[in-house]
Amino acid sequence: MKPKLFIPGPTHVEQDVLDALAQYPIGHRTTDYRDLQSKVVSGIKECLYTEQSVLVSTSSATGLMEAGVRNLSKKKVANFVCGAFSKKQAAITRACGLNQDVFEVEWGQAITAEHVNDVLSKGDYDLVTIVFNETSTGVMNPLQEIADVVNNYDDVLLMVDAVSGMMGAPIKIDEWGVDMALASVQKAWALPPGFAITSLSDRALARSHSIPDAQKGFYFDFVRMHKAGEKSETPVTPSIPHLYGLSVQLDRIKAEGLENRFARHREMADRVRDWGRDKFGLFAEPGYESDTLTCFNNDANIDLLALADAMKSKNYLISGGYGDLKGKTFRLAHMGDLKMADINDVLDVLDGVIETL
Ligand SMILES: *Cc1c(COP(=O)(O)O)cnc(C)c1O
Repeated sequence: MKPKLFIPGPTHVEQDVLDALAQYPIGHRTTDYRDLQSKVVSGIKECLYTEQSVLVSTSSATGLMEAGVRNLSKKKVANFVCGAFSKKQAAITRACGLNQDVFEVEWGQAITAEHVNDVLSKGDYDLVTIVFNETSTGVMNPLQEIADVVNNYDDVLLMVDAVSGMMGAPIKIDEWGVDMALASVQKAWALPPGFAITSLSDRALARSHSIPDAQKGFYFDFVRMHKAGEKSETPVTPSIPHLYGLSVQLDRIKAEGLENRFARHREMADRVRDWGRDKFGLFAEPGYESDTLTCFNNDANIDLLALADAMKSKNYLISGGYGDLKGKTFRLAHMGDLKMADINDVLDVLDGVIETL
């Protein structure tokens, strides 16, 4: 038996979703395929509360993190950093040779709307990048408040790395005014890795139209992706297994109900925080704790490698700190298709294991 996944990606996948990925392929220029993509894309739009564009991408999320900055900035990018993944977004922007300024807060702190406003009022930016849920620190940034601020600046687009937050907490794309929210499917979408999706606002698409190919490249050109998407196709052969999987997963999400899904995540998050708040301390700034994963301090000074190993030997995979936080923190994901019973179970086992360390 494989260890059950309580790491923040890849996450636990239900058997019927797994089975869906194993179906015999269909041609990707056929009516059957177009029906499949069309169903999946409209399902995703419902989940993101948007009537604007949704693009599907056969890549991990990082591909879309790179695509976003290449397609959406002509002047200068403001990268907000609050942990390892938002730092990666800044590194990607740099690697693409784009103009940028980086604004980093202490890890564990959230990015506030005031901070974003302060930056935008002083600089000549046309794109803000922000992480919704910083997977390395367990901080969930106040996205709606940040979007409110960004929307006061006419030519500034808002690009959100929503990888570990999307489908674990609501993101109201159209109502909040988010230009791009991207995610891979191996986090709270609860599918195997290898596929990513993003929302794209009309004004983001218009921006991409005005950017030369030499900056955008070919594979991730949003105009090309959108044009194919209008016909319910992709420019190149997609991971058809993932579309099968998403189709089944969207049915499951619909059956549970979006609101119920988000409430389940909040309840699991409360349970995990209550379990470890006193014993370990939470790494995230109070008020900004993530609903999809919890990052604990190691105040009790236990051997985190031994903890993860002991858990693995009992068939539970948990996660040590990420990046600079390795050895200093450990993380437990409570996202995707995990249920309260799974959380109760893993916490019981953790209690037992910790006593033996
Ligand atoms: C996992 C993760 C990524 C990277 O996603 P890939 O699919 O591995 O490219 C980026 N940002 C955040 C916040 C993540 O949690």
